Amino acid sequence: MSSASPVPTLRDLESWSFPGTALAVFGHPIGHSLSPPMHNAALADLARDDARFASWKYFRFEIHPDELPQALELAHAKNFHGINLTVPHKVIAFDRVAEIDPAARPVGAVNTLRRTGANWHGFNTDGYGLNTAVHETLGCQLAGSHIVLLGAGGAARGAAVECLQRRCASLWIANRTPENLAALLARLAPLAAGIPLHGFAPDEPPAKLPSGALVINATSAGLRVDDPSPLDLATLSRPAAVFDMIYNPARTPLLRQAESLSIPCANGLSMLVHQGAKSLEIWSGIPAARTAPAMQAAARAALGA
Ligand code: NDP
Repeated sequence: MSSASPVPTLRDLESWSFPGTALAVFGHPIGHSLSPPMHNAALADLARDDARFASWKYFRFEIHPDELPQALELAHAKNFHGINLTVPHKVIAFDRVAEIDPAARPVGAVNTLRRTGANWHGFNTDGYGLNTAVHETLGCQLAGSHIVLLGAGGAARGAAVECLQRRCASLWIANRTPENLAALLARLAPLAAGIPLHGFAPDEPPAKLPSGALVINATSAGLRVDDPSPLDLATLSRPAAVFDMIYNPARTPLLRQAESLSIPCANGLSMLVHQGAKSLEIWSGIPAARTAPAMQAAARAALGA
């Protein structure tokens, strides 16, 4: 399905019928999601070796937040095998699915649903995507690293939980709005279990910030061309690497500064790919590492990279 074709809505879901195994992503907005081309490329690749996958197809639906409960019920009734959730549904769905994977509970958000007999089982694959991406693109590990995390929204919360669950050496979180930072730190405190956890204002990095930290941008600063950088990297003591979750545009002001300072850096495309491959593993049982290359190629093609 090309991104130029009309985007199906709740109304289309009401009259939906598909003879094969249907997967879908729900979002608002959803028009530019890379998930359909990524998953359909991976399914076509799998179908070459295993005819079972020839009847699998991944769709997208524009679903308003008010419509989500009805959309989840309908998708179950229409036999969808799995659903991805993107902005703003990850948190809304958390309280609406019957079963939540234990690793997703502290995040309070789900991005992957697998059909069960009566309802849905929720998972969150963003943390896996982040961990795999920083390793693949930068040779970094969240485990044992000092992490400087930028942002206090949904993506930052997921990243922070992943860093703490993987036992990072310390976690330093910066955010523009102090109240949002304080709320995130309060939520994370019970998970820290001895790991140093600190917050700071982006324009006042504390002198005691460890050198050699992995900087992760989980703010949306950089999505628009005129956005400011969320942090001046020159104020940090020699970061080891910079990972920006944003992938479109491919080079944000933060990444451009990292390049100018010769700090290894990567954008969020790899994270997108690996969270997607993990979702497909949850639905199909096929290891994420098997489908990630086809997803990566499709995502790059869709972005025109
Ligand atoms: P939210 O809206 O929940 O949070 C946005 C965050 O960005 C807040 O911390 C906000 O700070 C901060 N922010 C927004 N604008 C600015 C600015 N101009 N300067 C400084 N800080 C700013 O968004 P999400 O957490 O859902 O997503 C954040 C980013 O992560 C998005 O760009 C998204 O595309 C990306 N992402 C990428 C993924 C991938 O697979 N690669 C997966 C998930 C997300 P404040 O509290 O002050 O408002």
